[in-house]
Amino acid sequence: MIAQDKISSLQTQYAPTVWLNGQYVNIKEADVHIMTHGLHYGSSVYEGIRVYNHKPFKLRQHIERMLHSATSLHLDSPYNIEELEEIILEIVLRNNLTFGYIRPLAWRGAESPRIDGINCSCHWAVVAWASFLEQRHSQRIQGIRLEINPTWRKAPAGCLPYTSKSAGMYTVSTIAKIESQKRGFDDSILLDMKSNVTEATTSNIFFIQDKRLYTPIPDCFLNGITRQTVLQIAENLGLEAQEYTIPVSNLNTYEAAFLTGTSIEIMPISSITYGTQVYNYNSQHPLILQLCKAYDQITY
Ligand code: PMP
Repeated sequence: MIAQDKISSLQTQYAPTVWLNGQYVNIKEADVHIMTHGLHYGSSVYEGIRVYNHKPFKLRQHIERMLHSATSLHLDSPYNIEELEEIILEIVLRNNLTFGYIRPLAWRGAESPRIDGINCSCHWAVVAWASFLEQRHSQRIQGIRLEINPTWRKAPAGCLPYTSKSAGMYTVSTIAKIESQKRGFDDSILLDMKSNVTEATTSNIFFIQDKRLYTPIPDCFLNGITRQTVLQIAENLGLEAQEYTIPVSNLNTYEAAFLTGTSIEIMPISSITYGTQVYNYNSQHPLILQLCKAYDQITY
């Protein structure tokens, strides 16, 4: 099947109405110029927002992060928080999204090939998936298999705008995930330059030991909104949770582990492979089940 056919078959999952630079248009009319700076140099930022029962979850936090990401790339926003909120709610309405996924995007346009792109216009869009995700029931029960990526590391703070969701941040995530999948794993975990655990390619990580939660300190990777939600849920449930430097040598000390992210929600990990070592975890650990139940209650 050629790529265009694949896109056509996927189009049934794309919500038909998108918002592009101030207009609501059909997705087939939402074209982008081939000379787009964002395409050539990755000068673009995005968000990912889940819709549950017609309601975008944590909308305000996602829009705040979107504007923060744009600012970190010196991309202007002609829209404020309230205007972006209104546009996103309108996209939910026009596409009649019950359970879906919304993606705001911003990027530099086609006016200049220079790296600074300073003369390029800023473009803003909101696109959506009508039925983005299967529920991944079997993975939720069995847990996913991860590896510590043997090739790629997380760049130290100061090397990338790590608090933003900018396209350039994802180059290593894409390569690492492709390579881990080729080796038969579901995803990669990246270590920092000091061999401490950071996160998976597009989600944060937690460990469990003795009824306590441990999660790495987000000092060179994204402090995800789901991660923050889980920390809040833990506090509400009276569970102890600690942000902690987690050396890779600690992996054998935990009973259970899970990932968090907007799209995967709370995903149990069944094993982490590190070189020749395989660490197995209880994907049905009672604390994971408790957190999943509480998360479902606030989202669904
Ligand atoms: N880390 C990275 C690199 C991500 O792309 C994401 C997904 N946005 C996350 C963590 C999880 O963030 P959130 O919970 O806000 O979706």
